[in-house]
Amino acid sequence: MGGGSIISSNLSIPCLHRIHQGNPARTHVTSYKIGMSLELCELMRRLDELNSISTRKGVEDRSILVTFDDGWSDVTLLADFFDDNRKLQPVLFLTNEHIKGNRSLLPLSRLYAWCDSWLLDIDQIEDLGISRECLKSLPESLQHSILDDLNIPNTHLSSQILDCEQIGYLKKKGWIIASHAHDHHDLRFDKDEDLLEGLILARKGIEEFGGEPWLAWPEGRCTIRTCEIAKKAGFEKQFSLDVEAGNVDHPDLISRTIWS
Ligand SMILES: [Zn+2]
Repeated sequence: MGGGSIISSNLSIPCLHRIHQGNPARTHVTSYKIGMSLELCELMRRLDELNSISTRKGVEDRSILVTFDDGWSDVTLLADFFDDNRKLQPVLFLTNEHIKGNRSLLPLSRLYAWCDSWLLDIDQIEDLGISRECLKSLPESLQHSILDDLNIPNTHLSSQILDCEQIGYLKKKGWIIASHAHDHHDLRFDKDEDLLEGLILARKGIEEFGGEPWLAWPEGRCTIRTCEIAKKAGFEKQFSLDVEAGNVDHPDLISRTIWS
């Protein structure tokens, strides 16, 4: 099993999404409210500290993973940060659609963008008869069609999402690119054969792209059954979120903590 130094160092692996500078801009308000956007200086201070602790512990260079989900272009603010923080290894988890060049917002991000544009509080979405929890459980296409029915605008090409050139640049800087699955939803209830087929597609996609056969479960959610299927699909490491995955104990699974 890989990742020994990451686990034995006893440091929890951060999972990051969005980054803002100073006060959150309008495009970041909802993400910030739900704990998915961090202020740049504060984030750099915390990562600096993680690097210092890792240096004191004597771990190998690039053995402490710092992970970024969902492919936000905000992460380019840290493009050079890791040059001098040599204990840390940045990892980008991108969906299969994203590495194929699709830069539309994921359904929930589309909903947050709409809330931001109308200065709505995310709690008010319940008035529309939808909930974040319910959306997360549905395949992306269904989530989108529910948002279509509510006339929530779709963003097919968002500058807030990393483009190919930016991904290529980060890759050249030594960032690891890995998979965030074939469809961004809670995959725990998908049928065995559908899940295996989708994950094989995702694993092949990421390898053809020059990434690692590692999988970050969408929404951080998995079970022993889904972990076994991902292993069968050829993934060598899997990542969950400690708040979401409960006590799933699979030898390939590494838990992460959302920094907020
Ligand atoms: Zn995600």
